[in-house]
Amino acid sequence: MVDVKKIRKSICEVAAYLINKDLTDLSGGNISVRDKNKIYINERLSGPNYQWKIEEDSIIVTDICKMPLIGDEGLITREASTHYLIYQTFPEINAIIHCHPLFMMVFGAAHMDIPSVTEGSRVILGDQPITNVEESIPSSQDQAEKVVDNFKKRREKDSNAALICNIPFHGMFTAGANLNDALVYADIANNCAKLLIYRQLMFGNDPAADLSIRKHFTREDFSTMDIFKEVCKPGYVYEDAFGQKTKYISPEFKQNKSDNEINFTANGLNSINKDKIVSIVTEILAKLLNSK
Ligand SMILES: [Zn+2]
Repeated sequence: MVDVKKIRKSICEVAAYLINKDLTDLSGGNISVRDKNKIYINERLSGPNYQWKIEEDSIIVTDICKMPLIGDEGLITREASTHYLIYQTFPEINAIIHCHPLFMMVFGAAHMDIPSVTEGSRVILGDQPITNVEESIPSSQDQAEKVVDNFKKRREKDSNAALICNIPFHGMFTAGANLNDALVYADIANNCAKLLIYRQLMFGNDPAADLSIRKHFTREDFSTMDIFKEVCKPGYVYEDAFGQKTKYISPEFKQNKSDNEINFTANGLNSINKDKIVSIVTEILAKLLNSK
């Protein structure tokens, strides 16, 4: 799990994840993180020279205009122009990943958009497909402006849109509020592309295959996934963790009633038997002491 508070360590861990999961190759990719006014960014040629086994000490720190604070600015990744322009344009963005994900690149090589067809991509990307920016020289200011323009258009259509784009015959850029978000966007987008390719391979010419999305969900629909949901109906009788026969009472009901009322309403079944707890704890302690 990436600990986003340990910035240099997290960049190295994400680098390993990218190469191990075929989200990039040895020819390129770069990762950066913003921490207030500082930018942490990996060295150039981390793939070709180090096979993505990069060290925390190799991460270079600069300000938002690439003025160096720690490390040699001359060693900063060649894609710095796009990273810094994204940070300068989107103050809420704190992490950027550029990588060469195999399945997304299949779409890029055909100048095709990637529609959302997985639960993850529909939640995060919403209704917008991942689109291609016009081809430009890698690492150029022209590429930086095209990527930022693509991101601006995504946000014009949907102010909550995840920032992600494909670059034909090259790779992709994604940007998030933190490094976990950016990594998830890359992972989800590549899986979405993978699913589309596999689906086409297996069913593309089968007239019986229905490739449509039958039910349209909005981002608001998906946001209900985060809402706490009860898994029992009030009144459901069961044995609790202590083996005590109990009647389930919804937390909402508990909030509105005093303890006495709850016990009364539940006919005493839900009151915790303190003697029983004491006896269980005593039994466990005795076993622990005897086991020494
Ligand atoms: Zn690249």
